[in-house]
Amino acid sequence: MPLRRLWTAAVTTLLAVVGLLLGPVHPAGASTGGTTLAAPDFKAPYPCGQKWTYSHHSGEVRRALDFVRADGGTTNGTPVLASATGTAYRHYEANGAGNYLSVEHGGGWRTYYFHLSAFSVADGAQVEQGQQIGTTGSTGNSTGPHIHYEQLYNGVGQDIRINGAALAYPGSYNQYFLTSDNGCGGAGTPFMTWGSGVRVRSDAHLSSPVVTTLAGPTSVRVLCQKQGDTVNAEGYTNNWWSKLRDQNGFISNIYIDNPAAQLPGVPLC
Ligand SMILES: [Zn+2]
Repeated sequence: MPLRRLWTAAVTTLLAVVGLLLGPVHPAGASTGGTTLAAPDFKAPYPCGQKWTYSHHSGEVRRALDFVRADGGTTNGTPVLASATGTAYRHYEANGAGNYLSVEHGGGWRTYYFHLSAFSVADGAQVEQGQQIGTTGSTGNSTGPHIHYEQLYNGVGQDIRINGAALAYPGSYNQYFLTSDNGCGGAGTPFMTWGSGVRVRSDAHLSSPVVTTLAGPTSVRVLCQKQGDTVNAEGYTNNWWSKLRDQNGFISNIYIDNPAAQLPGVPLC
């Protein structure tokens, strides 16, 4: 097809000229000279304080590491946490990854979590760093419970970095260990709110000034909780209030999407 060839040549020339005029253009997070920019601050894919060991074997896809617990706890059934904020997608591969999640972090970055026994989030859900997204299992092609974990940049597996530090790639377990600080107290505990026009107040009282309003369901971090004015709303009565990290104020626990009046795992203010 000579005409098509001609067009291709013309377009290529045009692009080359534009490229010369503009110089190299890199979108946010793009690669420059072999260095990748703007990686999220990834944290371990399992709960705060837990110590796991990891290894990489020759049959492994990309630059994966497999993690198993090394603190006496049971690997199977342990929560799998998002290592950074993003959008989670559910997948299933019978003879490979089993039940697995990918989380898109933006800027070309993605993480994988394979062999889950269960998913904790809907397909396409927005997830926060430290939020439980699944449960550790051994589905698919797996010889025992573990988290197969990967970090990819533009679809290419990268050497895994946690808290900015590159992990080793040992051929067997119990040589290298990693204790998680994902979802630890300072960052607050992630929850979703529900309802619309929810007022965030400077303290746990209905008379406290409104600092902001949550227009609709919002992903929040709860730093702590305390008892304040009793609120009757939406058919519930509750005097517990949550302090929201990013909004720097309190909402009634009625509007936290959790059935408990006093939230599990959240310290007192
Ligand atoms: Zn693996």
